Amino acid sequence: MKLTCKEASRLVSQGLDRRLGPWEWLRLRLHLAICDACAAFTKQMEFLRRAIRRLP
Ligand SMILES: [Zn+2]
Repeated sequence: MKLTCKEASRLVSQGLDRRLGPWEWLRLRLHLAICDACAAFTKQMEFLRRAIRRLP
């Protein structure tokens, strides 16, 4: 049930390209709630995605 950091970061990058299933999303959220490293990584990825979308 518990996600490893490796799986979490994989889900984060996949979540940028496609919608995660509700179960994947929930497991990822649970991991992010307890793992500062992955939470920071997710923030960074979301920032990058937004920055990329602003490009023409
Ligand atoms: Zn983690």
